[in-house]
Amino acid sequence: MEMVVDINSIIDLDNKYYLKIVNNVNEKIENATEIKELKLSTIFKKENLVLKIDFNSFDKKQYKKILKKLLFIKKMKSENRIGIKEDSKILLGYIINYDKDNKNHNDFILAINAIFYKTRYERYNYIYDTVCDYLDSFFYGKNLCDFKDNQCGEKKGTSSVIGCCRHYKYKLLGPLCFKWSICEHLTKEYKCGAKCIGCKLYTCDYLRSKGVVFKIKDILLLDVFFRPLQKYYIRYMLYTPKEKIIKRLMIT
Ligand code: SF4
Ligand code: SF4
Repeated sequence: MEMVVDINSIIDLDNKYYLKIVNNVNEKIENATEIKELKLSTIFKKENLVLKIDFNSFDKKQYKKILKKLLFIKKMKSENRIGIKEDSKILLGYIINYDKDNKNHNDFILAINAIFYKTRYERYNYIYDTVCDYLDSFFYGKNLCDFKDNQCGEKKGTSSVIGCCRHYKYKLLGPLCFKWSICEHLTKEYKCGAKCIGCKLYTCDYLRSKGVVFKIKDILLLDVFFRPLQKYYIRYMLYTPKEKIIKRLMIT
């Protein structure tokens, strides 16, 4: 989801939901439930669940717990009792003390967006694409790998001109069972044709020495929505196309 904040102070989410930004913090908001105080017992007494998200009332350390609870409640509560229908859209809640330049606030909203997908597959697909876009944009235009004449910093002084897009492959015949090969997903334009999230998360010693490291626990969408074994597959299913990775996540 591309974060679009319109002039009427609305954030459009996917699946017809939207959030209203409250600019006047003294504005009275009727019948909304504080997101940090979500409880299954109280939610069921309410006709409709409308959220009040005041970024000054909870901090980053509480994000995961709050989002997991919201996901649980969304699964338990019938769909037509979440939000208020207004024309073709559904008002999901109000946001207070929101800073559009604050990455933590925006990550939290992206996670709320993930929760309100109808199926687990759609949710995983959205999370996967959003995290890949984030990782791509992190590298975009920076040449962090210091490529020069198709040779990256790590491989400087060697004959390798394909960065780290190669791996051992099993051969059926021959005296040696394994062969060091260029990844089959590397296109002629030296681009990845697989959208492999594990490869995107990988950083070699050269990048690590520059402080570029990605930890799954630091990426909110991955940390909240996946179990430890799924996180293992996200991290270590290298050289693998997106479809195959999502399929594995669905059955894990
Ligand atoms: S991650 Fe490391 S090995 Fe891979 S292309 Fe970048 S510098 Fe080279
Ligand atoms: S799957 Fe991995 S190794 Fe293969 S081209 Fe894509 S990024 Fe490179």
